[in-house]
Amino acid sequence: MPKQSPVANELDKSFWGACNHDRLVLQHCSHCDRFQHPPEPVCAACNTADQLTWREVSGRGTIYSYGVVYDTPISSLQEDQPYNVAVIDLEDAPGINMMSHLPGTPVDDVPIGASVRMIFETTPGNGQKVPEWQVVA
Ligand SMILES: [Zn+2]
Repeated sequence: MPKQSPVANELDKSFWGACNHDRLVLQHCSHCDRFQHPPEPVCAACNTADQLTWREVSGRGTIYSYGVVYDTPISSLQEDQPYNVAVIDLEDAPGINMMSHLPGTPVDDVPIGASVRMIFETTPGNGQKVPEWQVVA
């Protein structure tokens, strides 16, 4: 499924840079011991910046919920519609959700609660890799 290519900015360049090395890193506040995503200049809970670090997570998770997109305004995705958009709960980053098209899973046949594993797909526009998830057989 063709994807849009994200363009990293100052705030999220660590996230996208790690993706290009098949690693998932998330912003973590040491003071609050909590993750936040997408990245912010300060911790949303304690409002400080100096405790924010990047912490690698496994990418393992489960499917929390999903929807099916039948009419996207994104032209590069229209040829693939309808398609799944699943919400992934990350196993080792409580409270953080990621979105996935669930490559390999039939449209509207998504097993809620199933275990998923992370993969990375290279986007055609600029070669940026993006995380995706697949149901573990
Ligand atoms: Zn904090």
